[in-house]
Amino acid sequence: MIGIFRAGRSLNKEIHMPKITNLHDVYVEQLKDLYSAETQLIKALPKMAKAAHSPDLAQGFEEHLEQTKEHAARLEEIFRGLDEKPTGKTCKAMEGLIKEGAETIQENASPAAKDALLIAAAQRVEHYEIAGYGTVRTYANLLGEEEAVKLLDQTLQEEVETDEKLTEAAQSINVEAEEEQEEAPAPSHRR
Ligand code: FE
Ligand code: FE
Repeated sequence: MIGIFRAGRSLNKEIHMPKITNLHDVYVEQLKDLYSAETQLIKALPKMAKAAHSPDLAQGFEEHLEQTKEHAARLEEIFRGLDEKPTGKTCKAMEGLIKEGAETIQENASPAAKDALLIAAAQRVEHYEIAGYGTVRTYANLLGEEEAVKLLDQTLQEEVETDEKLTEAAQSINVEAEEEQEEAPAPSHRR
């Protein structure tokens, strides 16, 4: 008996049984990716707020930090319901977006231009999250995870609202950035 069992196991190893075999597994994998993204953002958003020149923009980042903590907590709640752990995956895309954000923070830019750059980085992040939450909400719907659908939908709406607020903030900040350029001393032509 033991011999047969062992033979079966080694056969499984040889054909590399996939770890992800159904939509539930895909759902869990995608939720872990989002959890990693949200926890990375909790560390990055205070730095974005500190780098912002416009008090409104800084406050917007602070507010979204509080929402982001809530997003991570909602995912933890979903994982508790699934009897799974949210950890164990690193969202490499968010890692990259945050690296770009960090470059933006370091950039030698005039105040409004810096704010315009911060908004550009933040909107990339929001769109990434919007895509991710839309996908997992669809999975949760199909899997009949009604509570999770509600939680994921709440987060999705907050990501969309944040993106809209950033678009609104950009309307004045982009114009300021344009005027900043006009105010800068004209290059000398007498060299
Ligand atoms: Fe979020
Ligand atoms: Fe967000």
